[in-house]
Amino acid sequence: MRPPFGLADDLLEAGLSLLTFHFSPFTSHFSHPPLLIRRFQLQIFMADFDLIVLGGGPAGYTGAIRAAQLGLNTAIIDKREVLGGTCLNIGCIPSKALLVSSQYVHFAHHEAQHHGLKFEGVQVDLAKLMARKQTVVKQLTQGLEFLMKKNRITRIRGIGQLVAPGKVVVNQPDGSTEEHRGRNVILATGSVPMELPNVTIDRERVVTSDEALSFTEVPAELLVVGAGAIGLELGSVWSRLGSKVTVLEFLPRIAAFLDPDVTQALQKTLEAQGLKFHVETQVTSVALQDKKVLVQAKNKGEQSLEFQADKVLVAVGRKPYLEGAVAKDLGLKLTERGRVAVDQQFRTNLPGLYAIGDIIEGPMLAHKGEEDGIACTEFIAGKAGHVNYNVVPNIVYTHPEVACVGLTEEAAKKNGAQIKIGKFPFIANGRALANDEPAGFAKIIADTRTDKLLGSQIIGSNASELIAEIVSIMEFGGSAEDLGRTVHAHPTLSEAVKEAGLAVDNLAFSIPPNPRQ
Ligand SMILES: Cc1cc2nc3c(=O)[nH]c(=O)nc-3n(C[C@H](O)[C@H](O)[C@H](O)COP(=O)(O)OP(=O)(O)OC[C@H]3O[C@@H](n4cnc5c(N)ncnc54)[C@H](O)[C@@H]3O)c2cc1C
Repeated sequence: MRPPFGLADDLLEAGLSLLTFHFSPFTSHFSHPPLLIRRFQLQIFMADFDLIVLGGGPAGYTGAIRAAQLGLNTAIIDKREVLGGTCLNIGCIPSKALLVSSQYVHFAHHEAQHHGLKFEGVQVDLAKLMARKQTVVKQLTQGLEFLMKKNRITRIRGIGQLVAPGKVVVNQPDGSTEEHRGRNVILATGSVPMELPNVTIDRERVVTSDEALSFTEVPAELLVVGAGAIGLELGSVWSRLGSKVTVLEFLPRIAAFLDPDVTQALQKTLEAQGLKFHVETQVTSVALQDKKVLVQAKNKGEQSLEFQADKVLVAVGRKPYLEGAVAKDLGLKLTERGRVAVDQQFRTNLPGLYAIGDIIEGPMLAHKGEEDGIACTEFIAGKAGHVNYNVVPNIVYTHPEVACVGLTEEAAKKNGAQIKIGKFPFIANGRALANDEPAGFAKIIADTRTDKLLGSQIIGSNASELIAEIVSIMEFGGSAEDLGRTVHAHPTLSEAVKEAGLAVDNLAFSIPPNPRQ
């Protein structure tokens, strides 16, 4: 389809940067350029939008909303029927819905008796459990469409491609194409599961998280390759629902971004729940057999191991997804790790093109993408955007949950930092005992000289909520003493975090003094 302004593309490209000068950033007012140029401008620079966002995941939709709040005429393009990207459709939200439902099953089978409750003949209606998950997804994705409307953001469905600076062609589901022009374009096309070179994903028996969120039967035996957040969460879900789950991990420990004391506690608890782990184990082949999948692996000592399973979940990380999003001849620059290279204002090497979320460097997390989206659109609007990447929390939503932020003890020591550690176990916290959730501890890492909080890891019930306090204190440059002197309501789990702050200086009052401090 020809654009309404109908000028040759090269003219448009040449004119783009020159002509922006004559416009106020977000409206179409000229600042009285000479007549000749004005004629060209009128024809050339009839951009449809101030901003086009390509990709409607957390990074894209949050960026679009902030852009609309800042008065930018904004469009958002996504190929899915509904917005929300990986996170809402096949990521954060459906996995948490399954985690909650399966935790109730676990409670009924294994924990209710502590409370004097007897459940007999507990049965899982998997179809209903999955339907509830989908209802949650639908509620949120529909809510997003509503938010787009209310913010007057134009929603365009289809596969978008940047074909020239400021020009996006969209292949729509009905086979037609449309062209849209934006003074600025943000690329937010997200990520997809990483695969292993020697493993074919058939999406039936050898699957990624996309399929493992929607099994129609509980696999009798599930083998999970990869003990990161996704592998551990989905492994937990299916274990609680009745699968025998074995997890293989290439690295020396599970959830290796955490300190060893935390991962040891996590592994012990998950093992008590029935999961089996093989660390320092590398998958060498996966073969479909009659009914089972045969997985061969070797461990650190080069010993061969063999596993059989009904399903194999490959959860070895995610990779940026850029398939066709930018025409090859434009020469979009990537980093060594294959992410889109951006400067501190999210600008790529192409004029008017920005990138945010999972496709750029940094943790592949929804909340990190959201902050990218907000800061990026603030820069586009001429404001001062900012993301503090030192305080992006990271959570594993197992039971108990594990949450971390900032430096680990291991990383701090490796950096040569002088640190002091405070630890407080939930077993010494009244609310944790009342809740029958005594497992885990809160750990605080502070600078010896300044007392400034450098990081924290919490393993325990509701760790995902508790870490927010540490994030706030770190954002304000606060200290362990700030944490320890802040009044916390009693009885709450958050008191364990406060006491971990006090424990940094051996001043916790609900545990005996540490003779080694
Ligand atoms: C099972 C699972 C659980 C997770 N749990 C968590 C969690 O608990 N917390 C957390 O923070 N993160 C979690 N994540 C990660 C999180 O989902 C991602 O970090 C987040 O979705 C990234 O956001 P994004 O906007 O960058 O990309 P995405 O959410 O991937 O969105 C990108 C969108 O762009 C669209 N798109 C791509 N190319 C085109 C194109 N050419 N044209 C049109 N549209 C296009 C895609 O359809 C997609 O909708 C989880 C991920 C998975 C898989």
